[in-house]
Amino acid sequence: MKKIYLDTAATTPLSEKAFAEMLPFFKDSFYNASAVYGDAGKAARALREFRSRAAGILNAQASEIIFTSGASESNNAAIKGVFAKVFRSRSHFVTTAIEHESVLKTAEFLSRFGITTNFLPVDGNGRVSPDDLEKSLRSDTGLVSVMLVNNETGTIEPVREIAEICRERGIPLHTDATQAAGHIKLDAKELGADFLSLSAHKFHGPKGSGILYAKNGTVAESLVHGGPQESGRRAGTENLPGIAGLVSALEESAGLYAEKGIQLQSMQNGLVSKLSRIEGIEFNGSLEGRIPGNLNFRIGGKNPVNGESLRIMLENRGILVSKGSACNAGADSPSHVLLAMGKSAEEAKDSIRISFDLTTKIEDISEAASIIAESAEFLRHERIFA
Ligand code: PMP
Repeated sequence: MKKIYLDTAATTPLSEKAFAEMLPFFKDSFYNASAVYGDAGKAARALREFRSRAAGILNAQASEIIFTSGASESNNAAIKGVFAKVFRSRSHFVTTAIEHESVLKTAEFLSRFGITTNFLPVDGNGRVSPDDLEKSLRSDTGLVSVMLVNNETGTIEPVREIAEICRERGIPLHTDATQAAGHIKLDAKELGADFLSLSAHKFHGPKGSGILYAKNGTVAESLVHGGPQESGRRAGTENLPGIAGLVSALEESAGLYAEKGIQLQSMQNGLVSKLSRIEGIEFNGSLEGRIPGNLNFRIGGKNPVNGESLRIMLENRGILVSKGSACNAGADSPSHVLLAMGKSAEEAKDSIRISFDLTTKIEDISEAASIIAESAEFLRHERIFA
């Protein structure tokens, strides 16, 4: 059976180019980049090159790039790292109710050590208000963390505006940009955040490889103590194959976006217009101000379609979609993001996320839309006559 993969927000397959760039570092250039002999020097040089290539794409300095194991680690490193430095004078953290678990659970963990957190609400479109953020700031706020793009709805948060507010108040800002790469332009300077997290497998790089951008001049304790790698900001022998794949995929996705970004938007528009013909369909969040490539919806109306039944039916026909984030998809509980947007538990549980990127074929999107419409119709009738 033909498969149509529409869950790129969960993960993406490795790009051929990235795979090819990783290969030498598994065997031929397997050396430890910190070793002293000449052959290892090649690994150290490659690491320097990868760091400056990553910096080039993100409009950052090479010294601002810390290679990590992914966005969960990057988020933890930024938040715990800042509070480990400032907790004596600053014990207040501000974030949003719709962050990824790696931010929410980090806040929960820090509460054990006396750090209190404000979880900012969002509106019906899933957007946080810069005014609410400004009002929440206190003289002891040590860090603000607001994601750039939400993983469940694709909503773009007003990080640039928030960065200005934080800068005026002298409070560092972290942004989880995991879902942004390959969908919108990523420019650390333009965005104005002090810390930024990325995960390679969301843009066709390998799993277990990520970046924490930490602006020069910011202070954060290392999460992993040990050797002097990453200038003492993250100990452990560098994962050179993972770093090679990450940087190669980051370059490829940035290039692809520059070349074909408009196509992604037109794929999204086409999908919206086809799905809009389904009776009772409700898109979660505004169709404006979101990345192209992420749609969240439920089929409501008089006879709402059960979300899990729809997902299973689609899977049986080769269409792979998800219900909310992969990290929570197995859980029976409704999405915290949709609840924060004012949806009921029932509405949240019936919601489906479709995500795709520039590697998705236009004809596959169109075929999936037809199958979704047929499946919804079938399930609705089955429910009426059951
Ligand atoms: N933040 C966001 C917004 C994400 O979507 C994810 C992955 N679901 C992460 C952080 C964590 O990334 P990883 O699992 O690669 O550590």
